[in-house]
Amino acid sequence: MGNLRHMPLSEELDSSPRRDTAGTFESTDPATGAVVGVFPVHDTDAVRAIVARTRPAAEHWAALGFAERGLRLAAYRGHLARRIDELADLVHRENGKPHDDAVLEITLAVDHLAWAAAHARKTLGLRRVRPGLLAANQAAYLEYQPLGVVGVIGPWNYPVFTPMGSIAYALAAGNAGVFKPSEFTPAVGAWLADAWRTAVPDVADAFGLVTGSGETGAALCRAGVDKLAFTGSAATGRKVMATCAETLTPVLMELGGKDAMIVDDDADVAAADAAVWGGMSNAGQTCIGIERVYATSAVYDRFVTEVTSRVADLRPGSDPQAAYGPMTMAGQADVVRRHLDDAVAAGGSVATGGTVDGGVIAPTVLLDVPEDSAAVREETFGPTLTITRVADAEEALRRANDSTMGLGGSVFSGSPARAMSLARRMRSGMTAINSVLSFASVPALPFGGVGESGFGRIHGEDGLREFARAKAITRLRFALPVNPMSFTRPAGAVDALARITRLRHGRRR
Ligand code: NAD
Repeated sequence: MGNLRHMPLSEELDSSPRRDTAGTFESTDPATGAVVGVFPVHDTDAVRAIVARTRPAAEHWAALGFAERGLRLAAYRGHLARRIDELADLVHRENGKPHDDAVLEITLAVDHLAWAAAHARKTLGLRRVRPGLLAANQAAYLEYQPLGVVGVIGPWNYPVFTPMGSIAYALAAGNAGVFKPSEFTPAVGAWLADAWRTAVPDVADAFGLVTGSGETGAALCRAGVDKLAFTGSAATGRKVMATCAETLTPVLMELGGKDAMIVDDDADVAAADAAVWGGMSNAGQTCIGIERVYATSAVYDRFVTEVTSRVADLRPGSDPQAAYGPMTMAGQADVVRRHLDDAVAAGGSVATGGTVDGGVIAPTVLLDVPEDSAAVREETFGPTLTITRVADAEEALRRANDSTMGLGGSVFSGSPARAMSLARRMRSGMTAINSVLSFASVPALPFGGVGESGFGRIHGEDGLREFARAKAITRLRFALPVNPMSFTRPAGAVDALARITRLRHGRRR
């Protein structure tokens, strides 16, 4: 595919002039600097217009019901699945990650799309619930109705998987979506939106696209969307929340992480392999990437040797054999550089790597880094790992939990019971035992963080409900001989109720 000059299809069909753009911007290949595409900067009016156009599409989409929506979501899924290589090529060029890693990312997104569509009715559809003793004469119903138009603001690091975690679940829940991809990966965002229009033309407007940087994102927050699903850094998340507060627009916050791995006494070498993948894949630009490892004294030396020897085999670059690509966003290399310098100045040592050459960062392992340094406390978002020796797994857990963030994490232990206990006490939204990142590939599992890693969930049943509002309905089945909620109730009716309540609940001390 050549360079893209993107204009949403509906604008091409629209005979009116393209009033909704105020300039354009380019996205570029981080490896070569070549222009990947040119995109409009949608300003406030343009964003409002696109959200307004999406609103009737949202009503139509909601009215279709689960089965009809399911057919269209399946058509979209099929479209994506048949074009994995084409999309992966674009992801490689615009984000910089290896083609195969892009394929992996897209595969996961397609699987989530399938799960969300298949489980929407069961999770959200109208059902009867028990009315309870006091309302035994009522039938009680619950359903989760679509919100309307969901705004989705995405990052660049997983430009397919991450926004699709919101878009797929929002669509499956019966909402329309307006997506603002990162200004570093607009071509991928435009590809996803165009694919929707092509795959399901009768509901084309249910998936809108706006492009631009932070101002366009802020305009989307203010454009009257019914919910704003944000994925990005905590710093931007704060701004997004503040902007959404102006209109009381509810928000979902999927923010950064500083995920830890605990390596227990009896962990085997698989822990080293997983740490290297968890820390270095995608050049470490993974919200649930492993950034800190706490290894017990019993395994520390063996673990460090194993990790450093595996890291020595990794080579960054943009050729097909490269383990990972250049940094997608050149500025991120400065953050990584600062963390490395700070770690070394504070007494840490570089076991391997440590070089930053433009946007290409060598896989780096840092040892003995003080817990209060930036490399341990802040999100590094680069191909780096800190490995810290701890007395035992309990100390590892204490240190892992001593963070303002809590997105994912990992525990390696030979004892299933111990591993489960550590995982349950890890202060994070997700923990993988004896692997890394694996929870993201289980569509039934909710994805999201605690603390400064955000709130709300994508994926799984929680992810579907995140984009729906609960609707409660009661239907009178038969009138009670004595209705306590009537001004005509006889004296003593409420006393009788109180007697029943004392009998049922009052005996417990
Ligand atoms: P970012 O916060 O810089 O930008 C994210 C998005 O917000 C972009 O589309 C950007 O244009 C937009 N934006 C910027 N300013 C805005 C404003 N004032 N109002 C509205 N929108 C605005 O993040 P990034 O650099 O694109 O992505 C990397 C970050 O995302 C990392 O912190 C990473 O951990 C996090 N992330 C989190 C998850 C998760 O699921 N928790 C997933 C992927 C990435």
